[in-house]
Amino acid sequence: MVPARSSATLIRDLKTHTPDETRAEPAPRLIIDLATIQSNYAKIRELAPGADAGAVVKANAYGLGATEIVPALADAGCRTFYVAHTQEGREARAALAGRPADIYVFNGFWPAELPALREAELFPVINELAQLEQLRDQAPDLPCALHFDTGMNRLGLGPEETDALIADPARLDAIDVRQIMSHLACADEPVYPLNALQLKRFRRVREAFPGIPASLSNSAGVLLGPDYHFDVLRPGLALYGGVPAPGHDSPFEPAVEIDAPVLQIRELRPGDTVGYGATFQADSPRRIATVAAGYADGLLRAFGNGGYGRIGETRVPILGRVSMDLIGVDITDVAETIAPGHPVCFLGGDIEDMADSAATISYEFLVRLGLRFHRIYKPAAERR
Ligand SMILES: *Cc1c(COP(=O)(O)O)cnc(C)c1O
Repeated sequence: MVPARSSATLIRDLKTHTPDETRAEPAPRLIIDLATIQSNYAKIRELAPGADAGAVVKANAYGLGATEIVPALADAGCRTFYVAHTQEGREARAALAGRPADIYVFNGFWPAELPALREAELFPVINELAQLEQLRDQAPDLPCALHFDTGMNRLGLGPEETDALIADPARLDAIDVRQIMSHLACADEPVYPLNALQLKRFRRVREAFPGIPASLSNSAGVLLGPDYHFDVLRPGLALYGGVPAPGHDSPFEPAVEIDAPVLQIRELRPGDTVGYGATFQADSPRRIATVAAGYADGLLRAFGNGGYGRIGETRVPILGRVSMDLIGVDITDVAETIAPGHPVCFLGGDIEDMADSAATISYEFLVRLGLRFHRIYKPAAERR
């Protein structure tokens, strides 16, 4: 397994900001650690040794880059991928570059997608009986998964359709169902009774269709323990270093970090304000650094006056509003001398605190990290 590395080491390794007349304009970088994503995947396997671990790579692998992340996960042993859209499935297939893997498309069977599904060898996830009939009509040989809705009320066969299929399992005759699945609504809140109820309902489905591999758990579900593991796991967030159940311990390491350079430094006198709307006012002398990253890069406006970055181990609070391209941070307490070009780190191990400060969840701002970043993929471990 790849050893976990601290945010500080990650940044130190990558620091290239030495003062130098020939230097180009300093630009923010998004650093994605493929080796950490692989070690998070290995942790999922350790947590559920009896199950296969798939990987959810929808929305461009949570905004981080399916082209790089899918092959890294395949090299770590992953053979089952899940996406939301057919197009994402095509991208995942291309990224695999011939490595063998099953790719499931969550959003249902839509007959017009059939040529694309066939060409990229994608397996639709059937969400209602009408889709099952369409599949039987148009592509009975196409492997698929069956999604049962056990309480989320989002996608999947609802309770009546589930009962109808259990009463008449011949409706699956000659259909190549490779997986039955369901999705947990409250896995991030282990004490919620809906978890146990969904588990009970899914067990009933499983008993009705023995022999078909069953899949229930997302990242947070994996942490609910072996009862929830079944045959195939579907983690997403945990792989990318998010905390699946905020407020509970997480064994996963941060894999994403923003490294944004200081552009300018100034001293505030008491009474001075920072940024649009003058929403921060200094009550004592402060030193602030203006950093080259903003909401255009996905640092949410809601991080203003609440979020923070880091210089080394020192927290530097975000002062005032986040602008489109800029953020002000308070560097008064930073011991080292900071010059323009010095990197300020955001996210890393602070990902859940940051989500909290913006009243959102890490999922949301991961998928919104901007396209303007210079993206750096730290190399993955060797192929196994
Ligand atoms: C997104 C998704 C997952 C992965 O969820 P995480 O919480 O990111 O682990 C699993 N299953 C389904 C159906 C999903 O939509």
